[in-house]
Amino acid sequence: MSRRWFPRSLRMRLTALHVAAMVLVVTLYAAAVFALEARNASRGLDDRLRSDFRWAADMAQTNRDGSLSWFESDEWQEDSPWLNVLTENGEPIFRTALARRLPVPGSAALARNPDGGIVAVPGGVAPFRILTGRARVGGQRVIIQVGRSEAPMRQALTELLLVLVLGLPLSVTAAGLGGYWLARGALAPVDRMAERARAITAERLGERLPVDNPADELGRLATVFNATLGRLEASFREMRRFTANVSHELRTPLTAIRSVGEVGLREPRDAAGYRQVIGSMLEDANRLANMVDRLLTLSRADAGDVKVASDPVDLAALAEHVAADLGVLAEEKDQSLAVQLDGPAHCVGDRIVLRQALINLVDNAIKYTPRGGTIGIRVAAANGQAAVDVSDTGCGIAPELRERVFDRFYRGPQPEAGEAGAGLGLAIAKWAVEANGGTLAYSPAGDGSLFRMRLPQAFLDGAARHPQLGAAPRTPAKP
Ligand code: ADP
Repeated sequence: MSRRWFPRSLRMRLTALHVAAMVLVVTLYAAAVFALEARNASRGLDDRLRSDFRWAADMAQTNRDGSLSWFESDEWQEDSPWLNVLTENGEPIFRTALARRLPVPGSAALARNPDGGIVAVPGGVAPFRILTGRARVGGQRVIIQVGRSEAPMRQALTELLLVLVLGLPLSVTAAGLGGYWLARGALAPVDRMAERARAITAERLGERLPVDNPADELGRLATVFNATLGRLEASFREMRRFTANVSHELRTPLTAIRSVGEVGLREPRDAAGYRQVIGSMLEDANRLANMVDRLLTLSRADAGDVKVASDPVDLAALAEHVAADLGVLAEEKDQSLAVQLDGPAHCVGDRIVLRQALINLVDNAIKYTPRGGTIGIRVAAANGQAAVDVSDTGCGIAPELRERVFDRFYRGPQPEAGEAGAGLGLAIAKWAVEANGGTLAYSPAGDGSLFRMRLPQAFLDGAARHPQLGAAPRTPAKP
């Protein structure tokens, strides 16, 4: 259905609807007033005729010769009704001057049936109402007919109709103008908001919509929109920071590879010399590949592409494997790396993703703990939660930095010896644990650090106690 006739601006639409509603209401109201008034006027006329009838019967006087006559005062003449008195046989006894002047054609026929009813007969200007009834006057039975024209009543009703009909367009016009003015005032903030919103671009995300009244609907809309803009701005800022960090982090090993290559080619070397140069280049290439892998993990997680499996995972076994894999690194620094198992702890999750999280934590613990330190992995389960704690006796993390260590590319103080990290390890570990329905938090432990992984515990000794087993692969939340 075409709606081309419908005004496009909300302001005009509101006004049109307002006017239409007004026309409907005023028309119904006017019709009701007119109908009520017409009914009352008609009843009033009938009542008047009845009172005329009673009056006419009372005002008769019997003459000496037994005939009847009526007293006609000035007042009577002024507003005198049409009065016709007849014998029961239909012979005329008395007529007022008006009745003599204005004979009503159907009155004789009505006189033959004097049932006290009121009948409207056609008159000159307007119909004429006649009440015909029997009465006993001076001991004589007579038929009295009183009549009145409907003209005054009709005139009064016509005047009322005129007032109502003329008042309708006036009131509707006034309502339309008022409605338009109100709609324009109420929607003015929308224009201002649209104007401001048009100026907001990716480069100017700091701009906000004006909020005239935070309590009204438009104010609430603007507030919500501003909050959305705030989040968008934060994401843009984060994205720019991330892109800048990625470029910088990728550039460093690339520059190293290039300079090592250039230096290697500057003068002829023997096989051992070239092997050393290539080895050094491969080291940097490995670092690069490692970082690209981490970035890929994060960006896949961002895009929601990573599906984590829902397998039963024995966290104690996982901890033993990681300790075995990274034990060499701890040994190189004369550190003791021990796993403490406080009872069985299982969860349902993705073993590979959880292993990566644990590797990052233990790798950090080794990296940030001085030579001869102690690294502990403790596995326990209690109150429906499986926990894996990685503690160390290293430098710990200053209170003001604890919030930020899980941010991407955030790097705190680096170890004196060894390779500087890229600041992605904890971000990935946190994502990995959360993707498996758990939490990862830092808490200080003595001088060192304690990272605690908590995961929903799964009971592997009976199917009923681990309902998550066999669940469909989940899509994890973004890191
Ligand atoms: P990085 O690659 O720099 O290790 P991470 O995301 O793994 O990046 O860690 C972020 C920062 O948190 C590190 O730069 C370091 O300052 C701090 N940090 C992480 N683990 C430890 C730890 N076990 N002890 C002390 N500081 C830590």
